[in-house]
Amino acid sequence: MGFMDNVINTTKNVAQTAGKKTDEAIRTSKLKIKSGQLSNEIKNKYEKLGALVYEMAKTNDKDTDAFDAIIAEIDDANAELASIEKQLDDLKGKVACPVCGVKTDNDNAFCPKCGAKLPEKPAEEEPVVEEDKGE
Ligand SMILES: [Zn+2]
Repeated sequence: MGFMDNVINTTKNVAQTAGKKTDEAIRTSKLKIKSGQLSNEIKNKYEKLGALVYEMAKTNDKDTDAFDAIIAEIDDANAELASIEKQLDDLKGKVACPVCGVKTDNDNAFCPKCGAKLPEKPAEEEPVVEEDKGE
């Protein structure tokens, strides 16, 4: 039928022929959907917060509990979104610079833009070594 049907079919075929990459592709698209939903949620919460601020200013009734609750919700949603973005980066072999935010290969030790030290590449199943703090 339309353009979207072609896109969906093409996407399906690509996923089917990709073999090993299929799981990765499914994971990526699921993460992307979740990321989009979260971004929307966050936007809605900001709107709610804005409406509340407006209401408070108009009525001079400072309902700080409601205020704090929405801010906490936004913090939670942002933390979840950051974790999803990180999972997406891991799938792509990318890492975001903790200083300037530019995305680069997670093989790099330093950011190519600002020179900041990048986090270590996620180790695969490395046993947790307890740090010896001495006695
Ligand atoms: Zn940087």
